[in-house]
Amino acid sequence: MQINLKFIVDANAIAWHLLDYASNWHYYVHENLGKWVKKNVVERDKLHNILESYANMRTPFGWQEEINLLNWAARGFSDEMFSKLRPLVNDWLELKLNDGRTIKEAANQAEAQIYPYVEILQSKFAALNVDEMVGKLHKLLPEAEIFDELPAYVVWSPIEGSTQGGANGAGVYSEIGIPTSEKTLESTFEVLVHEAFHKLVDPSVTFDSWKELEEIDQKYEHIQEGNQSLNGHLEEMVIYSAVDVMLFGEDPKVMLETNVKSSPKYKQMWEHTYKFFPILDDYVKGRAEADITKERIIAFAREIVGNF
Ligand SMILES: [Zn+2]
Repeated sequence: MQINLKFIVDANAIAWHLLDYASNWHYYVHENLGKWVKKNVVERDKLHNILESYANMRTPFGWQEEINLLNWAARGFSDEMFSKLRPLVNDWLELKLNDGRTIKEAANQAEAQIYPYVEILQSKFAALNVDEMVGKLHKLLPEAEIFDELPAYVVWSPIEGSTQGGANGAGVYSEIGIPTSEKTLESTFEVLVHEAFHKLVDPSVTFDSWKELEEIDQKYEHIQEGNQSLNGHLEEMVIYSAVDVMLFGEDPKVMLETNVKSSPKYKQMWEHTYKFFPILDDYVKGRAEADITKERIIAFAREIVGNF
């Protein structure tokens, strides 16, 4: 099987993503794009009304519709599915920025600036040759849905270095800053591949079928109230180990040391990845079979829950 990411750069998707994040419709949305929009849009009152109405209408769709909404935008906001958002989107596109452009014009320009990177991203992805890794992970984590192609949206961030991304629905996206340095392009690429593995391998679907984890999870939820589920956390361990460490060569020990002062959640992610990585490495390199690896993952889960 040949896995393909279909990189998409589209002005409507770019404009919609900016609106979606500027509206701050959910507390997971990072507020940096919202701050930029408030600083750069001329018509403040109009903006305020659009963002507020949009956030209210957006909330019921939830995170799972994010890729569907990008698809909808890329089809020119034309189909019925989200038609009630359309009037707000129209008003949004006509808002004027301090530099004289409308949002629509800014998005068109961003599209033209990002578009040349599609070919580079495509060849970077082909060179990464993920098929073998994904194939092995499917044998360990067989419950995942199989995708041979995923849409991968590359959207504009007016904030330098911002590469927020996601995999909410059947596809992935990441922001890219303009002007784009080699470093910016590389981080956008790494985010897209990281997010793509969440879809391509989808470890928590298999973890949900492991009875032992269910028992451990009950204890975990008790300790980690309101936070990510145990299986969601284990999924990140798999993705960080497979993508960030194995494919992109991050050293978990160095990441741990350089992130001592990061958010507690991110720091913990690397602490746990540092411990988890050898389990996946042994499996991928053929030093441990799938059934042994499953036992080791369960033992790892027991250990981290005990340590929380
Ligand atoms: Zn992730």
